[in-house]
Amino acid sequence: MTACSSDVGLSAVRGSANMGMVRPENFVQCRDCGLWEPFDHGDGRCRRHAPSAAETMDEVAHWPLTRAEDSCGEGVLAANSKKRPIPCRRCIYWHHSPTGIEPVQRSDQLADWWRRAGRCLRFAPWPSAEPGGRAFRRVSHEDDSCSDGRET
Ligand code: SF4
Repeated sequence: MTACSSDVGLSAVRGSANMGMVRPENFVQCRDCGLWEPFDHGDGRCRRHAPSAAETMDEVAHWPLTRAEDSCGEGVLAANSKKRPIPCRRCIYWHHSPTGIEPVQRSDQLADWWRRAGRCLRFAPWPSAEPGGRAFRRVSHEDDSCSDGRET
């Protein structure tokens, strides 16, 4: 039996983890990626994806921290592409009212943050392993951004 291309990719990823040498060709390092937001000493935020739905109300979206030397197969080389994250305030998927959000039992952000917050409607909720679960839209700030959004 011959290996399919995803098998080849997987073995290369395993090789990368095991030996620190081999990477699939389409891997982009965070430091070279146009969807990465660097902020401090080799750390940054991956802005590739919009937040998924949450299981409790008014959860704040936090974009994952990665290191400059991390990599993945969904990045875009900043030098070769104009693709960049777009801000939530300019995104058609951002649901926002002029008064912002009055959160239910949340104290993880300041009042001014909530005034400039809205809900991301980009993705339908993913099915879960448990029956009867509820889905709530995650909350983002107008200055947040991602690469799944679409400009108004
Ligand atoms: S830019 Fe749009 S899709 Fe991305 S997080 Fe903000 S509202 Fe969601």
